[in-house]
Amino acid sequence: MQVSSLTIDAVRRGLGREFSATELATEALRFAEAENAKTNAYLRFSPERALAAAKAVDEKLARGVDPGPLAGVPVAIKDVILTKGLTTTCGSRLLEHYVPPYDATAVVRLEQAGGILIGKTNCDEFAMGSSNENSAFGPVRNPLALDRVPGGSSGGSAAAVTQGTAVVALGSDTGGSIRQPASFCGVVGVTPTYGRVSRYGLTAFASSLDHIGPFARNVKDAAVLLETIAGRDPCDATSADAPVPDYTVSIDGRVNGLKLGLPREYLKDLTSETGDLIARGVAVLEKLGCEVHEISLPATDYAIASYYIIATAEASSNLARYDGVRYSTRSEHSETLADMYRYTRGEGFGAECKRRIMLGTYVLSHGYYDAYYLKAQKVRALIARGFTEAFRSVDAIVAPVSPFPAFRLGEKVEDPLAMYLSDIYTITGSLAGIPCMSVPCGRTAEGLPVGMQILTKHFDESTMFRLAGAFEKAGGAD
Ligand code: GLN
Repeated sequence: MQVSSLTIDAVRRGLGREFSATELATEALRFAEAENAKTNAYLRFSPERALAAAKAVDEKLARGVDPGPLAGVPVAIKDVILTKGLTTTCGSRLLEHYVPPYDATAVVRLEQAGGILIGKTNCDEFAMGSSNENSAFGPVRNPLALDRVPGGSSGGSAAAVTQGTAVVALGSDTGGSIRQPASFCGVVGVTPTYGRVSRYGLTAFASSLDHIGPFARNVKDAAVLLETIAGRDPCDATSADAPVPDYTVSIDGRVNGLKLGLPREYLKDLTSETGDLIARGVAVLEKLGCEVHEISLPATDYAIASYYIIATAEASSNLARYDGVRYSTRSEHSETLADMYRYTRGEGFGAECKRRIMLGTYVLSHGYYDAYYLKAQKVRALIARGFTEAFRSVDAIVAPVSPFPAFRLGEKVEDPLAMYLSDIYTITGSLAGIPCMSVPCGRTAEGLPVGMQILTKHFDESTMFRLAGAFEKAGGAD
């Protein structure tokens, strides 16, 4: 069995015939540990948990009981998602020894479906970043080009799926952290509608923007994983009480006659190769019978500014809980209460978290609240309205994920604003809370993958998967 090329369907076919769940988990763990020296995609492995889950799947199979839709499938989980009894660091020194007392709902659901949790993946500290260089535990390298970044902040999960050490993975997306690394690593990444997947057990960065979503090597696997984790959860009041359709059915649906919007604001800052590949991708969709219309989303220009106000404001509040008392490692310099706070946070947080806490505190402070935070919220409403209006005339929007493919490690670390620009096309969908995904759309001359972004109306993941499925079947832009 070749773990690196398995899909969920291949696991279903092979399980109990060519291999047992225990054999597959053992091989996946061995392979993942061996590959990790190259990429640093995983922060830790969970062999005991994986082998116990695999044994349970094997026993169910032996008894003739259905072991679930993800039976035996090796899954990697971003280290901002809580796992009971398994250290969860959020890529931060501050939580280096934090062992959660409960599992995130998404983790519970995928393990109930028979999924095998093989390890926790590296990420930018508290999911803040676009390159995975902000992890306190070292950067992740892009498996397709080891001198380049995998994207961020879910770089470890994207890399794990690309190198084939996990069949699927969970990441989190606040402003692009699933789609951008998926694009850089050449895999499928899905940010569902806000509220589609419970955030219970997802470490809060910017709560009104945070999503959990899947990475996979094909559209169908992403659909299966999303179906498994989606749906109302009483533990998260913002999780939607909306029926979860069978997404895998949509994948084989026809796309001729679908109206697609191509936003002109998303095409102007592209490096020419990315632009050419997206244009080729759009031509493929036209050939499949889609009607392409140029549209305008005029508030796009203000998206980055408004995101970095709203996200930092929420982060400054969410990160206040790491005080040396409840979760975090406490500094040794804790003689007074003020010192405990100051040193614990000063030693524990990395530079990007500190920058955001300061920025967020500033924009929420008396006197600046109206000028910055309130204005950013108004821009957010305008961005969301722009999408609502666009979806009156089109069924889906097609766009690039990132203006450029994976860049070199170190290339943008000195310039946070250049780094923030990586998310120019992904932040808008996050601010609007609509479903969006990255699907592979060919490679540059240097062999670097480029992702095409598909965005649809709230809760219309089905149309998004239908389009992505047809595009993939047509061979993408290759
Ligand atoms: N790169 C963006 C940021 O740094 C988005 C991060 C994310 O989606 N978690 O905030």
